[in-house]
Amino acid sequence: TLSGKKAVVTGSNSGIGLGVAEELAKAGANVVLNSFTNDDSDHALAADLSAKYGSNVTYIQADMSDGDQCRALIEKAGGCDILVNNAGIQFVSPVEDFPTERWDSIIAINLSSAFHTTAAALPGMREKGWGRIVNIASAHGLTASPYKSAYVAAKHGIIGLTKTIGLETAGEGVTCNAICPGYVLTPIVEKQIPDQMEVHGMSREDVIAKVMLQRQPSGEFATTEQMGGTAVFLCSDAAAQITGTSISVDGGWTAL
Ligand code: NAD
Repeated sequence: TLSGKKAVVTGSNSGIGLGVAEELAKAGANVVLNSFTNDDSDHALAADLSAKYGSNVTYIQADMSDGDQCRALIEKAGGCDILVNNAGIQFVSPVEDFPTERWDSIIAINLSSAFHTTAAALPGMREKGWGRIVNIASAHGLTASPYKSAYVAAKHGIIGLTKTIGLETAGEGVTCNAICPGYVLTPIVEKQIPDQMEVHGMSREDVIAKVMLQRQPSGEFATTEQMGGTAVFLCSDAAAQITGTSISVDGGWTAL
């Protein structure tokens, strides 16, 4: 059980971040949800999860493309025992046409944010002699696909960061690991389907089966609950000696 632990999950008002936040709350942790928006629905979501799981769930706005706001998120949360770096965006284009501002924002949100939040959260974890940092990387942290240069570079980068933080914290009760999801049907993937339909001249069903899940030998999407369950495992005592590594939850993608 994670009761008495405080978790911050970046980018958690939808998709995998929300799934991870829910599983952590279910396991007893108090959870800080985050995104760059500050809508009534964000705060209502936190209230709903509090009521559903009996944990204290709150929402703090911070834009993960801005290093200062990443650090301010951890400060406003009053530090955390569990840090899940999940916020991420995608953009697909041949490298020679890849807009520089898209490259910069993907590197900022998918990679640099984790540097800033980790730097801000680590001193408090060290003081308590306990901490868990879980970075949501991707199968694209281990393999590549064409036209995703920024995303693949950022995800490979976060696996490097994970290894480094694992070494810097080894033997201090703090672990740092990455989860590498294959395809999970969340808004970020949903948005890619129309583009892929156009590129391949295929129906929605064919894009899902023949393009996306073609890389995933199970032929099934992974789920947000499974990412949350893996994060909860990484926070458990059983995982205390697992550090600086990554766990693939990808239906066999990276075994190919
Ligand atoms: P999603 O679009 O549903 O969620 C992304 C989350 O990040 C949202 O809550 C969004 O509000 C938040 N976010 C975006 N920009 C932000 C910013 N500037 N500041 C703060 N929050 C911001 O997508 P998802 O599929 O849930 O993706 C979550 C993570 O999982 C990402 O890092 C993604 O790369 C990774 N991932 C997803 C898949 C998949 O198939 N869905 C596979 C591998 C890895």
